[in-house]
Amino acid sequence: MKKCSLKPMPMIAENLKNVQNRINTVDTKNKVTLIAVSKTKPAADLQQAIDAGQRHFGENYLQEALEKIDILKGQNLIWHFIGPIQSNKTKQITQNFSWVHSVDRIKIAQRLNDQRPENLEKLNVLLQINIDNEPTKSGVLIDEIDEIILHFENFQNISLRGFMCIPNPNNSAQSFAKMAKIMQKHPNLDTLSMGMSHDLELAIENGATFVRIGTDIFGKRA
Ligand SMILES: *Cc1c(COP(=O)(O)O)cnc(C)c1O
Repeated sequence: MKKCSLKPMPMIAENLKNVQNRINTVDTKNKVTLIAVSKTKPAADLQQAIDAGQRHFGENYLQEALEKIDILKGQNLIWHFIGPIQSNKTKQITQNFSWVHSVDRIKIAQRLNDQRPENLEKLNVLLQINIDNEPTKSGVLIDEIDEIILHFENFQNISLRGFMCIPNPNNSAQSFAKMAKIMQKHPNLDTLSMGMSHDLELAIENGATFVRIGTDIFGKRA
C-alpha cells in the first residue's frame, strides 16, 4: 500500500486549530480564552491537546477529573470545574482547581472559601446564572444576583470574577444578550463564561471571555 510521506496532523490538534480560528474571527479585542471541555474523554486525548498548545481544561465530574489531573500533572495546566457541585465535593474541588464556574449558592461558596488550601492563590469563582429561568436547570436567578454577590465581600480565599451560563439552545442569542446586560451592571467583574461548540461566535459577540468547547475539539461523547 502506498503511504503518504507527510505525517497527518492528529485529529484533535486539527480540531483545536479550527476552533481557535473560529474564535479569532470574532474575537476582535483578543480577550477570549478557550477552555477545552474534556469530560468523558481519556487523558491521552487531553495530552494530544496539550501537545498542540492547549492549557485550559474544563471538567464536570470530580472523580474523573482528579484521575486526569494526576496523570497530566507537571504540565502547567489550568483546571476549571464546570459541573454541578455537591457540598461533600467542595474540599477536593478547591484543592485541585483554579476556577469554579458552577457556584450557584452561598453555602457552596462558603465551603470553597473555608477549604481553600492556604498555600494556593485565591480560587476564581463564577456564579452560574439560570438565564432562561428553567426549573430543570441549576443556577442563580437574575433577581437573586445582587443579594448573593454581597456575601462575597466576606470571603478571603475565593475571588468572584463573574458569571457563567448554559442557555437553552433554542434562544442562546437572547440569553447571551441578557448576560451582556448583567455584566454591564457589574463593572468590577471581568469574566463571562459562555458559548459552546454550536454557539461560540454568538457568545463572543456578546462579551464572552471564556468559551467552553467539547464536541468540536474531542468529538462526540458516548
Ligand atoms: C459539556 C459541556 C460543555 C461543552 O459542550 P459542547 O457542546 O460539547 O462543546 C460546555 N459547558 C458545560 C457546562 C458542559 O457541561
